[in-house]
Amino acid sequence: MSLIVQKYGGSSVADAESIKRVARQIAATKKAGHDVVVTVSAMGDSTDDLIDLAHQVSDSPDSREMDMLLTTGERVAMSLLAMAIKDLGVDARSFTGSQAGMMTDGQHGRARIVDVTPTRVRQALDDDAVAIVAGFQGFNTDSKDITTLGRGGSDTTAVALAAVLGAEVCEIYTDVDGVFSADPRVVKKARKLDWASYEEMLELASSGAKVIYIRAVEFARRHSVTLHVRSSFTDKEGTWISAKRKAGTMEEPIIAGVAGDISEAKITVVGVPDIPGKAAEIFTRVAGAGANIDMIVQNISAQKTGLTDISFTLPTSDGPAVLAVLEAAQPEAGFDSLIFDDQIGKLSVVGAGMRTNAGVSAQLFTALSDAGINIEMISTSEIRISVVMRADVLPEAIRVVHAAFGLDASEDATVHAGTGR
Ligand code: ADP
Ligand code: ASP
Ligand code: MG
Repeated sequence: MSLIVQKYGGSSVADAESIKRVARQIAATKKAGHDVVVTVSAMGDSTDDLIDLAHQVSDSPDSREMDMLLTTGERVAMSLLAMAIKDLGVDARSFTGSQAGMMTDGQHGRARIVDVTPTRVRQALDDDAVAIVAGFQGFNTDSKDITTLGRGGSDTTAVALAAVLGAEVCEIYTDVDGVFSADPRVVKKARKLDWASYEEMLELASSGAKVIYIRAVEFARRHSVTLHVRSSFTDKEGTWISAKRKAGTMEEPIIAGVAGDISEAKITVVGVPDIPGKAAEIFTRVAGAGANIDMIVQNISAQKTGLTDISFTLPTSDGPAVLAVLEAAQPEAGFDSLIFDDQIGKLSVVGAGMRTNAGVSAQLFTALSDAGINIEMISTSEIRISVVMRADVLPEAIRVVHAAFGLDASEDATVHAGTGR
């Protein structure tokens, strides 16, 4: 009998009716003869609501307690879903992350899975029950504390279970019909992709396409888990993500998609002495603050002064910690000042076909310039080009670039539910 892992996102289980609808779909999969393991997210926007609540109680909520709080969201959803499935005459059992053997390191809020020992999940399957595992949560054996895997982490729970249980496929059910050439909430004429490679999906996810969480894609690639991203509101085929393109699908397009990200900020270190060792000094401090740097630009030194400016982007939430270490380093590092800018937006075009096609960057820059959009920073990888601009022009820039690369579909994409929050 084949095993299928299904993950339902928050918008698919937003209310009682939705939970019953999803329960019917799970029961049908079980009755069709499959073993079924389900990972479920918290209902609707309830994780965001819990975070808001925490900030009403505390200015800087304790990270251990934050994880205790947020994991309740998935616990609500999993138990309700199990009840609804049982009512349909199919046995179901829900498990918290720790009951399901999801072992992580101790980093609250962004824990990494170190081992999965799903003994009780296997037992439930042996007993002919559907196993429902709370997404996004784990357990650290050293501290004995509950952890969370980062926002969007239910995807990772599902993929990790699919990997250790040897599932045939990991289905990611969400509120759109699959992975599109751009966020359908931004580009109405976004085109559904039939297939994407792990590497394209990794680049899209890390560039802001939150339809699937980057760590889940990393996990899937490492363990060769085939993913099928699809809507829980229709039975249409969605987007397959695997190492090899399915036979019979179209020729590889040059550009798979366009992604946007407004979660980053830019720090400019002004007036850095242009001598060897200064960049090392600055970025050693930045790394010490635990921040993940994305783009870095150093301007040509003004000959008269021998000074240069260094700008870099980082997650906005890491801004305060990085500014603090740099401010402390100012006397020794000898720069003039720091500028913090959290009103930037990053646009990325991603496509494996870029490797063998010259001129993609020229086409991108021309499209932006025709729309009067100013580029502030540029970075490239083998299959991605990213540009930084003002945050308020990002949606328009995405639409313009999507059209310029001929990605607009003939029909509008459907967004079935969710608030896009
Ligand atoms: P879930 O609650 O199911 O986990 P998410 O909100 O995390 O859903 O992800 C689904 C959302 O991702 C969609 O509603 C869509 O707005 C957004 N999204 C961003 N980029 C893309 C893309 N390229 N393709 C599809 N959806 C995208
Ligand atoms: N509920 C968590 C979140 O909103 C995890 C998830 O949905 O994947 O981030
Ligand atoms: Mg998600």
